[in-house]
Amino acid sequence: MNHWQRQWLSDRLHKKQQNPPAVESFVPVVSIKPKRPSQPNDKITANIMKTKELDPQNLGPKEDWAGNNIALECPVCRKVFLVSKQLHGERHCPSCGRSRGMVTGGKESGGKASIIWDDAPAFTVGRKYSRKEISAVLGGSEVEFLPTENKRIVCGCFTLEHNPEAPDIVVPGTGKVIEREAKLFCEQDYPVPIFIKRRPNEWEYVGDYKAERSSTNTTEIAAHHKGSITPLNEVTRVIFLQRAAML
Ligand SMILES: [Zn+2]
Repeated sequence: MNHWQRQWLSDRLHKKQQNPPAVESFVPVVSIKPKRPSQPNDKITANIMKTKELDPQNLGPKEDWAGNNIALECPVCRKVFLVSKQLHGERHCPSCGRSRGMVTGGKESGGKASIIWDDAPAFTVGRKYSRKEISAVLGGSEVEFLPTENKRIVCGCFTLEHNPEAPDIVVPGTGKVIEREAKLFCEQDYPVPIFIKRRPNEWEYVGDYKAERSSTNTTEIAAHHKGSITPLNEVTRVIFLQRAAML
């Protein structure tokens, strides 16, 4: 290290000691990189996703293809699940949500079937993330409680003020977007990452959950209001969530 380098280092250290930051700024507990720069209408299909095409002449032991329906094994959680062209076209693994199978037709009539997955978990249970980080990985807005991307719920971001029993039970309020997203979440049959707000812009990842059941019964809603800051008469349903097995 020459004189100038030493001088520079000494100035820096000195400056640092003399001028501590007046307000401690929020530093994310962990930073996660977006999978790639976002592109219009295509934030999730990252280039690190793996794809496997089913070979109609050589189906694997846990694959089947009859008519426009396929059965295949989720490469992430090993659940065997069904994808029907008529019913789904494309379907997420109902057990872990981390893979999705698709089928375009029959194996004798030129149909194609494949599965796409990403087995690298993007989030760590117990760690906190900013809404910007969550949105960069999963898509969806940075403010909604059930962010959507391409007409699917990509995660849940719940506050205990609104949902005292989260993540097991949530009580969505009134509003066009809130009610639409709550309904969509209840119809979706696979788990998504769930985050609980612990401090301003610190959302703890608590695991993947899906809506197991929901009710608009007022007695049932009242039983689970539990002092939410959403007025009881504005709660539109109660959703019971089920946690996916950790992989
Ligand atoms: Zn799975």
